Amino acid sequence: MRAVVYQGPKDVSIEDVDEPEIQHPSDVVIDITTTAICGSDLHMYEGRTDADPGLVFGHENMGVITEVGEGVSTLEEGDRVVAPFNVACGFCRNCENGYTGFCTNVNPGFAGGAYGYVAMGPYQGGQAEQLRIPYADFNALKLPEGDEHEDAFAMLADIFPTGWHGTELANLQPGESIAIYGAGPVGMMAAYSADIKGASEIYVVDRVESRLDMVEEHTDAQGINFQESDPVEQILDAHGDQVDKGVDAVGYQAIDPEEVRDNPDEPYDPAKENPAIVLNQLVRTVRPTGQIGVVGLYLPVDPGAPDEMSAQGRIGIDFGKLFEKGHKFGTGQANVKQYNRQLRDLIIEGRADPSWVVSHRVGLDEAPEMYEKFDNREEGVTKVVLEP
Ligand code: NAD
Ligand code: ZN
Repeated sequence: MRAVVYQGPKDVSIEDVDEPEIQHPSDVVIDITTTAICGSDLHMYEGRTDADPGLVFGHENMGVITEVGEGVSTLEEGDRVVAPFNVACGFCRNCENGYTGFCTNVNPGFAGGAYGYVAMGPYQGGQAEQLRIPYADFNALKLPEGDEHEDAFAMLADIFPTGWHGTELANLQPGESIAIYGAGPVGMMAAYSADIKGASEIYVVDRVESRLDMVEEHTDAQGINFQESDPVEQILDAHGDQVDKGVDAVGYQAIDPEEVRDNPDEPYDPAKENPAIVLNQLVRTVRPTGQIGVVGLYLPVDPGAPDEMSAQGRIGIDFGKLFEKGHKFGTGQANVKQYNRQLRDLIIEGRADPSWVVSHRVGLDEAPEMYEKFDNREEGVTKVVLEP
């Protein structure tokens, strides 16, 4: 079958790879109908991890079941399903408590597993024609038959639950104000979630105008362009005070506003990053005793890695300011399974439709080109879905 295969930094290609097979009685195999490119893929794409060439990317997957393991009891051939990006067993202590992003069985030695992701276990990605879903009764969420809401349901694999998770980690309550750093697909879904949850005011910070326009069009958020001036000051001015809650939907790849201030047209450049900037800005933005959800990704420090790589996990937070303000922080992989059923039902009932975040639906052959554009955070390129 054809698949998107990592070749090395900034290089993916479409290759023929082995078709997945049932490996365990609890597996199913699906024909992929939609699979999305994620900001999380870019860490590997840019060569910032030690992903090996040959890895099939893709952790945001949905499709139709073609093969069913003999131990599977609730699914059958022909079922349309979406798989959380987390691979989870369903019965370890963390899964039992809903923390499916931290399953201790699927990937020994590392908290959590995912499809097509370095260090996240032996699970091939779904940017391909087919995918094996382990522990399928637990991991495959059934969808209505047909092809209605295809883009919206595809967002249930990751970014809609992940954006929701950001607001959960921040314990956002109706009527509270919130600042979200990052208007990538995850930040947009955090803003959308805040909207659904009844936030009183939502601020979303980024520099890509088309992304800020998009989130303003589809939610009640106010866009804040960090390129113009200090985003914290802009939010304090607009809101008249510090906000109740905050979300980091950027991660260590944060561009330092000072580095790009004089040139609005400057393209995305990793040399202009400051991995600690967003966390420190959030501490300044959120009121004392407020709460902050960090869903943007920070990579663990690898003792053997070169300094630049360690810098992606070991960063300088003003802990004194954090101490002064007594913030609570939550972070980590989103426990997609905790939310995807309810979010699916909001879509089915017409009360939510996250498909607005999708900017491109293309065939697998166009994946290399779309990786490049998404990686450059090109204007107008937000969420790219692939249709194998
Ligand atoms: P993305 O990486 O394109 O989004 C990041 C956005 O942040 C971009 O629009 C960028 O312009 C903006 N940005 C850069 N510097 C900034 C700054 N200083 N202030 C404000 N905004 C800034 O794509 P994405 O798919 O939205 O991913 C966002 C992050 O979420 C990534 O780190 C990704 O790995 C992570 N992620 C985490 C989970 C999880 O389970 N926790 C799931 C999915 C994605
Ligand atoms: Zn993702």
